[in-house]
Amino acid sequence: MNYLIFNFTAGWKNQMKIYILADMEGVSGLRVMSQVQSDSPEYAEGRKLMIDEMNAAVDAAFAAGATEVIAADTHGSGVQLRIGEMDARAIYERPNAGRMMPSLDKSFSGVILLGHHARAGTFNGFLDHTMSSMSWFEYRLNGQVMGEIGIEAAYAGHYDVPVIMVSGDEAAAVEATELLGDVECAIVKWGIGRNVAKCLPVRRAHETIRQSITRALAAPERFKPFKPVLPATIELTLYRSDMADDLAVHPDVERVDARAVRRTITTLLDVRRF
Ligand SMILES: [Zn+2]
Repeated sequence: MNYLIFNFTAGWKNQMKIYILADMEGVSGLRVMSQVQSDSPEYAEGRKLMIDEMNAAVDAAFAAGATEVIAADTHGSGVQLRIGEMDARAIYERPNAGRMMPSLDKSFSGVILLGHHARAGTFNGFLDHTMSSMSWFEYRLNGQVMGEIGIEAAYAGHYDVPVIMVSGDEAAAVEATELLGDVECAIVKWGIGRNVAKCLPVRRAHETIRQSITRALAAPERFKPFKPVLPATIELTLYRSDMADDLAVHPDVERVDARAVRRTITTLLDVRRF
């Protein structure tokens, strides 16, 4: 959505609000699992790489015509981005229990999924998982297996906001394209099995991201919001039956079998709520 707004110094101009949701596993240059684990000595480099990538993406979005950028960190407890080191033109927030993108609403032109990874069970997907690598084995929405890219795209679909660009490893780009069709993808690395990746040098990766954001923002109205049919069924298979025991205590959650639970949702805001 683009709205004409009047700015007393600049005159009439297009308003373009962009939401950037960053995960960590797909960040440029991040290449071993320990770099995403906050208790490991390698985490400091992983965190720095994530901060640098977010700053590159924010800069690219403003250069491509964004008038407002809200950015959030969805990895772990959402505190990787050290606020004092972030590009001063954006606003930063973090997801909370119920809201994946707290400030998102219908006034945004598009969502950028930065640093993303493939869903649980993807061959050569670097650190592939869906929400919890400890408990979520497989997630389905209306019968279709999907990962975080799909879950977040559906959440944004509630507000009729499309995912316009995805960055991460090649497996994440393939998944995004299969699910969303026309979406700009920046491939910055390739998984070698699950726990190691080969990476573009960071400067080249940031340039790839910049070009991809520039193409996406040139015409954000060409992307379609992802809006699964409602009411929708969400089904989750866990690794162990006791994990399903815990979720099945909620009155709206139906037990499918030892390891799986199911729920019917009437709003896409509940797309990951069990
Ligand atoms: Zn993730």
